[in-house]
Amino acid sequence: MNYERLTRKQLPKRVYQLLKRIGNTGDEMGLSVFVVGGFVRDLLIGSPNLDADVVVEGDGIAFAHAFAENEGGQVKRHRRFGTAVVVLPDGFKVDVATARTETYAHPGALPSVNPASIKEDLRRRDFTINAMAMALNEDRFGELVDFFDGKADILSESVKVLHDLSFVDDPTRIFRAVRFEQRYGFSIEPHTAELLQRAGSEDCFKTISGQRLRNEILLILKEENPFPAIRRLANFDLVKYIHPRICVSDELAELLDRIRDMGWCPNWDMALISLIALLDQLSADEAVDVSERLALRKRHTEALSLCKMRLPDILQRLDGINLQPSEVYRILKGLPVEVLRFGMAKCQGASDNILLYLTRLRKVRRLVNGNDLRRLGYSEGPLYTQILDETFAAQLDGLRGKSQAIQFVTDRFPL
Ligand code: ATP
Repeated sequence: MNYERLTRKQLPKRVYQLLKRIGNTGDEMGLSVFVVGGFVRDLLIGSPNLDADVVVEGDGIAFAHAFAENEGGQVKRHRRFGTAVVVLPDGFKVDVATARTETYAHPGALPSVNPASIKEDLRRRDFTINAMAMALNEDRFGELVDFFDGKADILSESVKVLHDLSFVDDPTRIFRAVRFEQRYGFSIEPHTAELLQRAGSEDCFKTISGQRLRNEILLILKEENPFPAIRRLANFDLVKYIHPRICVSDELAELLDRIRDMGWCPNWDMALISLIALLDQLSADEAVDVSERLALRKRHTEALSLCKMRLPDILQRLDGINLQPSEVYRILKGLPVEVLRFGMAKCQGASDNILLYLTRLRKVRRLVNGNDLRRLGYSEGPLYTQILDETFAAQLDGLRGKSQAIQFVTDRFPL
């Protein structure tokens, strides 16, 4: 079946045309080129996905350079395994890879790779629904390359591995299976579920790095609604690999719901907010264990630590209490937005104060600065900090305009 029409109908025009031009570069170089994986899966499912992963039968790096030159773009990164990212003049990114096989020296190891055909490239992938490609060359544009019946599995809403050792080769696929199943409302096919259960019961995660495990867990937590996937992991008795004391309860579901109900902003790290919620019942020491085992990034470790060490006390001070804005500012100043958002979900009585800080107080700019003090005749010294801090507090609590602020300074700190 040919998907040219679907591609034209479903994708933004500029992406459709981009795919055409990728195919043209392939034609110029005499190479077969395909878009693969999640892009094709989501095209068939009808869910928007603009992450174009391109696979070339031949030298992917040479192709990336030729395509970048045709487009006036840049090849930004060469990664391992003959892969590159082409960044187009408008910032749009295209991942390019050489079609390759992967073999695993031992379970969980990073694979050794060799150039190969598109069929072999698709064979190394995690699930049939992710193992489809669509041809981009002019004479084949839109042709679905589906050696492993991915389309049938999309129609039957199944997540299915390509072979029995899949989870043993790469245990991160266990988390991926659950993520895709829950995201699309599919089911992990029964034999795949058996394999998953078996791999999961043998502590297969011992063989992979904390960082790889962390990436997959954060991807689950980044999903629009992560709770069903967390519950599914719990059904498979896999949550213990994050930490044995995590309890997947109704309370956690409600907490995650409240986090989602707050809406979403591109600047917030939603995965971090959900991670904080997931680890909420753990002690500070247990959270440190998780940070170490999952090799969490510094920013995540610090936010977790703030939630364990400082947040309970902060929430208590803000809970249902009418404080002066300057006091709210003093209490919350410097806390990461994810910690604040989590605090709002955790303690509704504190949420008005936190919201005041997030929406107004933290954006306030000082009306008076050191230059003003110098001009007024104050001699430089430690007093400056006191004057500036007190004036800023008064400003948060109601001073309006620079002249009021200057008046405040001269009344409060006579020369
Ligand atoms: P998402 O919508 O979550 O980004 P995706 O399928 O695009 O989903 P990626 O992690 O970007 O996810 O992976 C791109 C493709 O690479 C997948 O569709 C799959 O074919 C392949 N892939 C990714 N991770 C693995 C893995 N662990 N084992 C085998 N194949 C994988």
